[in-house]
Amino acid sequence: MKNKVLGIIGGGQLGRMTALAAAKLGIECHVYDPDPNAPAFQVCFKSYINDYEDLDAIKQFAKKIDVALYEFENIPLKSAQIIEELCLLRPSSFVLSISQDRLVEKNFLINKAKVQTAKFYECNSHNDLVNAKKLIKGQAVLKTRRFGYDGKGQIKIDLDTNLLEAWKSIGSDELILEEFIPFKRELSIIIARDQNNKVQLYDTVENKHKNHILDQTIAPAPGISNKVSQLARDIAISIANEIDLIGILAIELFELNNGGLVVNEIAPRPHNSGHWTMDGCFTDQFEQAVRAAIGINLGSTERLFDVVMQNLIGDDIYLADNLINDPNCRVHKYGKKEIRPGRKMGHVNHIIR
Ligand code: AMP
Repeated sequence: MKNKVLGIIGGGQLGRMTALAAAKLGIECHVYDPDPNAPAFQVCFKSYINDYEDLDAIKQFAKKIDVALYEFENIPLKSAQIIEELCLLRPSSFVLSISQDRLVEKNFLINKAKVQTAKFYECNSHNDLVNAKKLIKGQAVLKTRRFGYDGKGQIKIDLDTNLLEAWKSIGSDELILEEFIPFKRELSIIIARDQNNKVQLYDTVENKHKNHILDQTIAPAPGISNKVSQLARDIAISIANEIDLIGILAIELFELNNGGLVVNEIAPRPHNSGHWTMDGCFTDQFEQAVRAAIGINLGSTERLFDVVMQNLIGDDIYLADNLINDPNCRVHKYGKKEIRPGRKMGHVNHIIR
């Protein structure tokens, strides 16, 4: 049987680790990214250095591959739809359209997937914001509908925050105001679903952030009750089925003191909180995304080791040279030439055994 050719839209660390997983299965990968230094270009068969808006280049890319997946949500929907006309796109452009807009996503989560989210209001003007703030009463978070990541595009709104200043400084007039959730901790779960609607779930993990960037993932989430664990799985299955996922999907959750779970956001791609699976599970999240895209059976998500995943951010990458000598550490470097504060340079999986 001829192996299918996989296209990866986005050549950052997620695209790179996906390409490496695909290579292990003998799959040829073509990577598309506007940045000539994209880390995935170092490890793939063919590179396309073009803008995501360049529809001619997008078409050329799509004609050379059998199936595409994406490593991030902010590719233009139009480009994704063109790819979908010429080859398979997994997850679909429908999934992408939901995950790239917080308002659409939240409406989908509540009305279709029937899961709990923070109370939210659409805000398209300062006046909307003032009204929404009255309805929420307590603390809130103002978020841009699009292009937010690692805490960018959001402002915490306290009781004394000047709403006009917040409105002016966020730099967009397509916003939502969300109630602030006084969570006990942040969790996430990753689900994989194949073309035959079969699902595989990874263990729910706990995520700790520093400066709004994921710092550490503890897998499995320490002390998680069976009830919360089952609730996380049920939420993931509802969303994956309702969105008709083919691929993998990460779901970020807030755990409440009463054992409830509130969905924060979803990401239909490999996720930083799933990096532990590379050394902790029988099949890691990247291979799982490739399997779902290519159309081969999903692998087992069985956890072989407990893992603490530590991101190496900015200068932390210098720690990698020592950590690599630790027999309980598995070090992953992303091959990024330039070290910048806040830039994800690598991660280390501390294996607990
Ligand atoms: P996000 O970009 O939506 O993933 O938010 C980044 C981080 O901000 C989350 O991981 C939380 O720590 C925090 N956060 C976002 N939304 C809320 C909320 N509604 N209530 C409390 N914390 C939040």
